[in-house]
Amino acid sequence: MSFKIRLESTNIKFSASHFLKEPSQCARLHGHNYYVSVEISDKLNDNHFVVNFIELKENLESIVEPLNHYVLIPTESDDIEIREEKDSVEVIAYNKRYVLPRTDIFFIPIPATTSELLAKYIHNKLKEIYKNKKILVRVGESKSTSAEYCD
Ligand SMILES: [Zn+2]
Repeated sequence: MSFKIRLESTNIKFSASHFLKEPSQCARLHGHNYYVSVEISDKLNDNHFVVNFIELKENLESIVEPLNHYVLIPTESDDIEIREEKDSVEVIAYNKRYVLPRTDIFFIPIPATTSELLAKYIHNKLKEIYKNKKILVRVGESKSTSAEYCD
């Protein structure tokens, strides 16, 4: 028998800037307030929980907080060239050149900063903590759009 718990996204959020390859308005540098929800399924532990909600919330916040108020630059894209200089970073992506302060960048090891891959990144971090549980992560970037990754 499997139980499922859900941590809704009302408080788990981060704000960040990014750009995508397409469509054209998404190719411009812009930002979102991202909301993150998690579902975890498993049998109950000795304390009759799937997981401890308080620990889950703290763990999720510790994964999401490092992204907050940064420009997210994906490091696993074949289309994006990154050159680190002393205090700045030059990013050449999709025929555009950005020069940003190093302090304002979070390098994220994914091929693109789509909500789908952000959900997978957060999922993989949670999976390191909750190894044997079934996890679903939902990342919403607006009131009407969200992406999920689950295993
Ligand atoms: Zn966007």
